[in-house]
Amino acid sequence: MEPDGVMAKDLFKPGEGLTYDDLIIMPGFIEFAPADVSLTTRVSRNIAVRRPLVSSPMDTVTEDRMAIALALAGGLGIIHYNNTVEEQVKLVRRVKRFENGMITDPVVLSPNRTIADLKRIKKEQGFSGIPITEDGTLNSKLVGIVTNRDIDFEAVDTKPLREVMSTDLLTAKKGVTLEQCNELMRKSKRGKLPVIDDKGRLVALTSRRDLLKNRDFPEASKDKNSQLLCGAAVSTKPQDRDRIGALAEAGVNVFVIDSAQGWSSYQIETIAYLKKTWPAIDVIAGNVVTARQAGALIDAGCDGLRVGMGPGSICTTQEMMAVGRGQGTAVFHVSAAAAKHGIPVIADGGISLIGHIAKALALGASAVMCGSLFAGASESPGEYFYREGVRLKRYRGMASIEAMKSGGGKRYFTEATQKVQIPQGVSGAVPDRGSVHDLVAYLSEGLRLALQDMGYRDIPSLHKATQKGELRFERRSHSAQREGAVHDLHSYVDPQLGQKSEL
Ligand code: 5GP
Repeated sequence: MEPDGVMAKDLFKPGEGLTYDDLIIMPGFIEFAPADVSLTTRVSRNIAVRRPLVSSPMDTVTEDRMAIALALAGGLGIIHYNNTVEEQVKLVRRVKRFENGMITDPVVLSPNRTIADLKRIKKEQGFSGIPITEDGTLNSKLVGIVTNRDIDFEAVDTKPLREVMSTDLLTAKKGVTLEQCNELMRKSKRGKLPVIDDKGRLVALTSRRDLLKNRDFPEASKDKNSQLLCGAAVSTKPQDRDRIGALAEAGVNVFVIDSAQGWSSYQIETIAYLKKTWPAIDVIAGNVVTARQAGALIDAGCDGLRVGMGPGSICTTQEMMAVGRGQGTAVFHVSAAAAKHGIPVIADGGISLIGHIAKALALGASAVMCGSLFAGASESPGEYFYREGVRLKRYRGMASIEAMKSGGGKRYFTEATQKVQIPQGVSGAVPDRGSVHDLVAYLSEGLRLALQDMGYRDIPSLHKATQKGELRFERRSHSAQREGAVHDLHSYVDPQLGQKSEL
């Protein structure tokens, strides 16, 4: 019997741009459970992850905490570059040095500092056990540790720590496992255990309190040294070459050339420079929306492509610049062209539902990049605030006036010093989405169910089915879209946000 629906290539007719909401996928035959579905994928030629989820390089989305949480959960964070080279490098280092349960950048003091210094740190940061090293920095010789017990009965705040610190030290050697640390602390009844190298220099600190709440992350995205994977945004500007070098030294795994329109001589030169200078680090180029743009960047040697021009929630590019493409059409055409070269595609922007991710994958993307979805998570930069009883976080486009003023316009060929600034984004707020760990668990389970409904056990077989025309699609009329969403209720509780929405 002729299958229902049409092949993807017949859905995307020349001269018409569709997006995720315009299409729907025909159900497939199910002969496996959702738990049998694998979400393992590649975000670039050499980088495989277990979750097809990447966070946007935006200053309200990805800094160290987001990148660490997302990598632990199986995705990948791309650290933004709306900062100095030193700041971006520090963020990347924190991700690369992160070890579950190990504090790799502990607060350290020198023996000459005073009890008053310690009390101030305790008040500001809430720590109680502070290692003391010869010169007061990490990687210097450990000489003592000061805990509450050492200062509780001390009345003179100007006393140097040298006189109160404990020098009867219990330490662990670099390379120790968390289980061994746990055991050592349990036996010795100590709350803090410094980790030192073979020269006695402090390299990390473990804390019993942290170990107790430690979770296991079997899906974590790691490199061959078992460090978490981390990406970083860079621009095509010649002055960013120093940034590139410093990020490479810090151990970044993938560069993302952040440009709103990637088909440029600047980008082609930057790809060539990156691949020549740092051949072991993957390069994701973009953004592109046409097969021709993609071809030029693939020819230049990129390892991955980022697709999307205008679909972002904070984005006004299509309205302002009259250029862009419907995201469904862009993802399908670019993915089909890139697949011929084995180059993975990341569908960037416009993702607000599990269904959007499922559709992006079905159209050929290997992963999605999300800004607004992750901006509301507790691990994104910024504080929560309340408006009309709803808990929110700020989220802004990198080409919003606000972000451009602090240097965020780099991906739009504009200069912060330019007299007339043309914003291509807005600033706003997004609702609280809880922790990335819960959010990724929710998105992953939803995706497994979606792939099961389509009848495919993993992302590569879904891609093959789309290419062969086995996976069938239909265009949804406006009323079909209305019918497919919640309708005809007075109000309802949003399952993702847990809050009441009025229709
Ligand atoms: P979202 O997930 O919020 O829908 O989209 C995030 C994506 O929007 C980012 O990954 C980036 O590609 C794009 N983006 C970020 N800031 C801006 C902006 O100010 N203007 C435009 N046109 N796109 C932006």
